[in-house]
Amino acid sequence: MNERRNSINQGGPVAAMKEIPGQKIKMPERLTPVPQTVVVVDDSATMRAIIQKELDVAGFSVVAFSDGLDALSSLRWMQKPPDLITLDIDMPRMDGFACCQRLREMEAQGQFGNVAAPIPVLFVSANDTFENRRRGFHLGSLEFISKPFDRGDIAAAVSKVLQPQSTFAGMTALVVDDNKSLRNMVAACLSRIGLGVLEAGDGRQAFELMKENLAVIDIAIVDFDMPLMRGDEFIHLARQFPETEHLPMLSLSGADETQAVLRMFRAGASDYLVKPFIAEELLARVQVHLQLRRHMRYLEEMNKNLYDRAVNDSLTGLRNKRYFQEAFDEMFARTKRSRSELSCLFFDLDHFKRVNDTCGHAFGDYVLKTIGSLVKKNVRCGDLAARFGGEEFVVALPNTNLDQAKFVAEKIRALVEAHQFSDQGRHWPVTVSIGVASLVEDQPTSASGLLQLADQALYLAKDGGRNRVEAHTM
Ligand code: GH3
Ligand code: MG
Ligand code: MG
Repeated sequence: MNERRNSINQGGPVAAMKEIPGQKIKMPERLTPVPQTVVVVDDSATMRAIIQKELDVAGFSVVAFSDGLDALSSLRWMQKPPDLITLDIDMPRMDGFACCQRLREMEAQGQFGNVAAPIPVLFVSANDTFENRRRGFHLGSLEFISKPFDRGDIAAAVSKVLQPQSTFAGMTALVVDDNKSLRNMVAACLSRIGLGVLEAGDGRQAFELMKENLAVIDIAIVDFDMPLMRGDEFIHLARQFPETEHLPMLSLSGADETQAVLRMFRAGASDYLVKPFIAEELLARVQVHLQLRRHMRYLEEMNKNLYDRAVNDSLTGLRNKRYFQEAFDEMFARTKRSRSELSCLFFDLDHFKRVNDTCGHAFGDYVLKTIGSLVKKNVRCGDLAARFGGEEFVVALPNTNLDQAKFVAEKIRALVEAHQFSDQGRHWPVTVSIGVASLVEDQPTSASGLLQLADQALYLAKDGGRNRVEAHTM
């Protein structure tokens, strides 16, 4: 969408980390090329067959085991670790949780080499309770599939994990929690949907990270109870930055902490999650907020676009007539109040019809564009230049008296006369006539009146032979 997004996106080939000022954002893993290997562990032969068939059809390479111990010992001899493991929970010898726990230990011991992230695990069980889902989440599982499942469910869930939609690629989450293992879990979970992650262990650290990375953080997930600075204090501070106006901030708190939730909301939280929670709920909420944020960005961009079109002239890049009139009215009123000076120039290209007729309309456009940039470069930043109509321009000059305005007008006239207008092999000398008028002793009484005086002076300049400056004198 914009530069900063791309800059986060371009990691190394299998980028795991990307340095940004002061901190490292953990980047999500890149998608591995298919076919990906899925290990299926289930004590029921029928279930193994169903899952295997479904994954085969979806293009995954499947290895199935009837229990956790067999699976784990085989993992040691596999050339490369599998891309994902589906685990039944109730199995003889070793249940799914114990198997997953052991897997995490093996990973920690480096038994699968230096893998960037834990092997994704997907529980498939008839024992679908909140407690089981929560345990699964704590072991780093992202999905829980309830038996009996519908045809397509397994393949869809596996694909979701292994081929995360790049919808959120390039977006970044700030995860703030003093509990390191919860933080890691949330981070792993978010990186699976393509998010880059920044982590902080308390409010103060989070605030420092927020300051440094205001432009790149797309969502913050913030625990309430933390040492040094609580979550609500952090959110309150973070909300002082105008950049966080639409930043989703998700509050985390314990089940018996209703007051904490309220405090987080009062400080500026956008949503909340009660611990313990499961991966699916975290991801669902994060996705809703990120989609809204993306939509908001899009609307902001569109708005800015529409505004630009509404106030600027597309050919010259100068302000348009509508903008000029409104701004000039305000400038006029301000000048009256502060009893300061105000002048304006009204100018028109000489015999421009001939330019178009001789050199073509495209050359005419080139001339208008060039004059626009000559004017822009030669007025002060407080001045207001606009294309008023076809080949007519105006410049409002605050804090400028008639003599000074005549000087500016003469400078522009001479610059145009001296400029070599040359485009695509065509050349043509161009001149302008300029009328100048100033507010003198409270006259005229309106901005449009002042503009009219400048227009009258312009007619004098045309009548006087063109390529000249004429000033209106009371
Ligand atoms: P004068 O010195 O009296 O101002 O003569 P003129 O030929 O400049 O005045 P006139 O009003 O007869 O012609 C203005 C010309 O400006 C006619 C029109 O085609 C041309 N014009 C207006 N807007 C544009 C534009 O956006 N692009 C181009 N190429 N020409 C334009
Ligand atoms: Mg003209
Ligand atoms: Mg004209």
